Amino acid sequence: MNPFREFDIAFVGLKPGQHRFHYDIDSTFFELFEHSPVRRAKITVDLIFDKQNTFFLLNFQISGTIHVACDRCADEIDFPIDADYPLVVKFDEHREEINDDSLADVVYIPHSESIFNVRQLIYEFVILSVPMGRITCESVPSKGKCNTETLKILNHLSPESSHQPDPRWDSLKKIKNK
Ligand SMILES: [Zn+2]
Repeated sequence: MNPFREFDIAFVGLKPGQHRFHYDIDSTFFELFEHSPVRRAKITVDLIFDKQNTFFLLNFQISGTIHVACDRCADEIDFPIDADYPLVVKFDEHREEINDDSLADVVYIPHSESIFNVRQLIYEFVILSVPMGRITCESVPSKGKCNTETLKILNHLSPESSHQPDPRWDSLKKIKNK
């Protein structure tokens, strides 16, 4: 089966009103995104697709864990993510009727379209759920503390020579003292 087809929503055949879709996502999903910062994950996506007359209202609830390395001790962490992403899908010809009071992102599709694929959106929402800053063991309550053994080794390996002046300065000093 084409892995992209799984994320097709054939909205033309849907009755007006709410429909629910569920997706389980793991590393095979991210393998298809070449530059994905996320490689391993265990995520569920619950999508509510509300079919209205002239637009669709979508809500992606994304929860689960992404697998990352601690930024300090490199231990592996299952970092929990849990977020909601609303989205409005409109048809191209309604582009001028933009409602600025809507906080949700708006995606436009051609009126000739009968299928809406949510694969790229799910990918982007997962990436958005990953915090921008450092993730360390302490960011995750279930993990708690960094690996002290690794930290000891890392501290030991840190180059002490960096505290010594660059030898090139010596020759400069000699020139200066002349
Ligand atoms: Zn750590």
